[in-house]
Amino acid sequence: MPEDLLLAIRKFALKNAFDYGKCDPKAIVGKVIGEFPESRKNFADLMAKITNAAVQVNSMPKEEIEKELSTFHFEEKKPEERKLPDLKGAENGKVVMRMAPNPNGPMHIGHCRMAVLNDEYTKRYSGTLILRFDDTDPKNENKIPMKEAYAWMPEDMRWLGVNFHRIERASARLQVYYDYCKKALEGGFAFVCTCKQEGWSESVRHEKKECPCKKNSPEKNLELWNKMLSWELKQGEAVVRVKTDVNEKNPAVVDWPAFRIIDAPEHPMVGKEFKVWPMLDFASAIDDFEFKVTHILRGKDLLVSQERQKILYKYFGWTYPNVTLYGKFLTTDDMVISKSKINAGIREGRFSGFDDPQLSTMKALRRRGILPQAIRNYMLNIGISESETTVDLNILYAENKKLLETSTEHYFFVENPIVLKVRGLQVKNLEIPKHPTNKELGSRRVHFDDEFLISGKDAGEIRLEEVIRLKELANVKIYKQENGKLFGEYAGNDLIKTSKKLHWVSAKFGEQVNSSILFVEKLTETGPLEKVEHKGVCEKACSELKQGQVVQFERMGFCVLDSKDGMKFILSC
Ligand SMILES: [Zn+2]
Repeated sequence: MPEDLLLAIRKFALKNAFDYGKCDPKAIVGKVIGEFPESRKNFADLMAKITNAAVQVNSMPKEEIEKELSTFHFEEKKPEERKLPDLKGAENGKVVMRMAPNPNGPMHIGHCRMAVLNDEYTKRYSGTLILRFDDTDPKNENKIPMKEAYAWMPEDMRWLGVNFHRIERASARLQVYYDYCKKALEGGFAFVCTCKQEGWSESVRHEKKECPCKKNSPEKNLELWNKMLSWELKQGEAVVRVKTDVNEKNPAVVDWPAFRIIDAPEHPMVGKEFKVWPMLDFASAIDDFEFKVTHILRGKDLLVSQERQKILYKYFGWTYPNVTLYGKFLTTDDMVISKSKINAGIREGRFSGFDDPQLSTMKALRRRGILPQAIRNYMLNIGISESETTVDLNILYAENKKLLETSTEHYFFVENPIVLKVRGLQVKNLEIPKHPTNKELGSRRVHFDDEFLISGKDAGEIRLEEVIRLKELANVKIYKQENGKLFGEYAGNDLIKTSKKLHWVSAKFGEQVNSSILFVEKLTETGPLEKVEHKGVCEKACSELKQGQVVQFERMGFCVLDSKDGMKFILSC
């Protein structure tokens, strides 16, 4: 319903312009998405529509804005019901699930769907959730585990509210995989292949020429297997394969590899001790059986793994767990999440660490004041459909805003402050509620004489003779501008709905604190996220905030206090 979408955009643009004197497209995008969740699918188009509406509304006289605004209703929309479908064959108290990330870097937004969905289901069925580190690739540079990630991932999952019941590490279970491999070789359903690996796939899987090693007797296979373990055979000289029909429909399944030799493994947990490593499909299949996993949530892209594993399960006479497939959850190129990219950025001085606010790691999101519940809500909205989804941080921010809106204290922040001197004011202090409607958040008292700080940008837009409103305080008629200062006169207290509402900070000694807000944003359409620091002052009351606390600086957005030293905030959303 595009007309309704346009109407909603118009409504919020008017409201924003009415409340703040000018409509800021960024301030209303979350509200529009809240009413029209579908609109986020084409975010660029949505932003264009919103920007267009803002331009129109900003050119209207205030009386007209007020008139048109009165024709709209602002009803609170009921939160949508988020319900995942039931798992097939799930029995309360008997469900066992697992999530198996490779700890090859920090946990990031791309891992969250897997974590949240598994957690939701095990909670629903009072089941058991296992966090299994799938860390059996000590060769591929991008996949080599990172020691710190073994501690970071559980910590980040707990922060996300994911309740796992135990941790398993595949690299601690190599002997278990070896034992099963031996059984498979003895049983004749696996073999050691000593063919030259180059060209093997082409010849066997595509030209359907049987690999000669398939005819090895179990005795011969065990002999070769022992030579692999004793490292008489070197990397590339032998692999263990699970025997299949050469005519399997999917060529990737044919005689799939289960173990390989790595001459110089680099593993943060087991070092160079082991040179024979299971492939992911084998190790994971064994563990799902050993851990009595009943249900697996699996990315659709791992369908081949499933086909391969089912063959192994059949040989062993095991029952394969119930599988629910979900579509790929893609991160975008501008999201920096990989260990190597982050390390490079740290070396070059672009990132301060793994929690740099430009990154999309869990650490960075947490530091930026993104609430775990916002991430969960976002993941639950995506649900478990089989369609492919791309991470959209703007949707995450909109979810975060929804949660923060009613519970966050409001303060004034003034960027690039300019002095406004006001004559005729009768009061010297003021009690201001910390939230417009939530009285539980209390209030703060602000003291002032006749000078106030307003933002340089606001000051630049004020005309002489204009009546502006110092928010919460009084109307002021501007009569002079001199030496970079503005001069005004008290012009009553009645709420004149048509005047610009300016945020201000008292200029009285000790009533303000120098501070800054770090914005992380895209400066160009296709560029990476970059940091822009906005410098200014905030109210003295902010000095009582705790590090990590999120507040709302209305014209800026929700900001988290990142460091009390220098009162540095980061824009959350
Ligand atoms: Zn062979």
